[in-house]
Amino acid sequence: MAGKKEAERNNAWLKMDEKQLQEAYDLSEGYLQFLNKVKTEREAVEFITQTAAESGFINIDSVEKLRPGDKAFLKVKSKVCALLVMGEDSLERGMNIVASHIDSPRLDLKPKPVYEADGLAMFKTHYYGGIKKYQWLAMPLALHGIVVKKDGQVINVCIGEGQNDCVFTITDLLPHLAKDQMEKKLADAVKGEDLNVLIGSRPLREAESDPVKQHIMEILHEKYNIKQDDFASAELEIVPAYSAREVGFDRSMIGAYGQDDRVCAYTSLKAALEVEKPKRTALCLFADKEEIGSCGNTGLHSLMIENIMAELLYKVGQSDYYTLRKTLASSCALSADVNAAVDPTYPDVFEKMNCSFLSSGVVLTKYTGSRGKVDSNDANPEFLGRIRKLFDDNQIVWQVGELGKVDIGGGGTVAKYMAYYGMEVVDCGVAVLGMHSPFEVVSKADIYMAYKGYKAFLQLF
Ligand code: MN
Ligand code: MN
Repeated sequence: MAGKKEAERNNAWLKMDEKQLQEAYDLSEGYLQFLNKVKTEREAVEFITQTAAESGFINIDSVEKLRPGDKAFLKVKSKVCALLVMGEDSLERGMNIVASHIDSPRLDLKPKPVYEADGLAMFKTHYYGGIKKYQWLAMPLALHGIVVKKDGQVINVCIGEGQNDCVFTITDLLPHLAKDQMEKKLADAVKGEDLNVLIGSRPLREAESDPVKQHIMEILHEKYNIKQDDFASAELEIVPAYSAREVGFDRSMIGAYGQDDRVCAYTSLKAALEVEKPKRTALCLFADKEEIGSCGNTGLHSLMIENIMAELLYKVGQSDYYTLRKTLASSCALSADVNAAVDPTYPDVFEKMNCSFLSSGVVLTKYTGSRGKVDSNDANPEFLGRIRKLFDDNQIVWQVGELGKVDIGGGGTVAKYMAYYGMEVVDCGVAVLGMHSPFEVVSKADIYMAYKGYKAFLQLF
């Protein structure tokens, strides 16, 4: 149990003084509010860019020339954003980048979602990202997202968050009739096509067919101007309807939906807001689509980073191809993403000398991947040496983390898509219990250490 003893020695709570403890609790207050306002990538972009604007960051679209010390934000398709603090050095000497993701596992509505069966109106869903399907049953659910009309009008939807809002749910089979279901493997007990959301039960008196569905469509039309065909051009996400909460008698933890990876998004946002006149340019990136492989034009497995760099270089008057390549290759990055904290109920999947523990500080994950590091960025030790020194010099409690035992499973992050350009990159984030569940748990001490780590890194030179 060497790992356990080491974790006790390395406990971030025990290493903080009174002032830091206060800062940690204050940070978590803001974080709770953020989690309750933000449950989708679009809501995250709104929150982050608004907060940045209030702190003096200007929209890059309104900037003609970028100068040292300038602070700007940019948006990509309302689903990705970035904060930028221009450094004294020329861009080709590289930037310090912290990249988190603001999408989380959830249930998306299908393009034709509404149907009626046995007197009930339902939504068909298609899950997004890696979920354990049974975890999404029998709890209050909210609907967030947008519907785009044919004329381009955008209808914002957020139902289930207000005290008096209605909520939705996916019903579970009663134990009395679940004999066959209970004998199935956990993975087969609830299928993707079983994740149907209950949305109504009262029929429309004058309807000829599907009267309950017709009633729901009438309500959607009257209240939101949404017709059945409009779901074809919509992005509607089913997420847990409950709020983020403090967990434990000691209130030392936060439990909430979507902390992978909004815990890193929030802490890197707070860090970026406090960067002033850095030597190297600081860039805080909030990406989409990580949970489904960083694909699409808002994921990092695209030319997005390159396009952002090209725009910055254009705005400092250095838009040649060589400088673009050089800027990318000489940059340093933290892939700000969560790791799995050791769960005492499931010790068998962790190798405790190399796993992360709750409250043991921000986690440096040298490599991810699975079964022989396959598909992983494996960070260079020269870079890791610099990060270790940076964290130690700034009293940042940190730990190493491997994602579970060799051969057990694995995962990936955006790190490899940044490494592609030649930049140095390592995964660095918060340890989470119950990752990808609808109620993930993190430690307030780790939130604080992540914030401090990102802030120090953004000012690295
Ligand atoms: Mn993640
Ligand atoms: Mn994830």
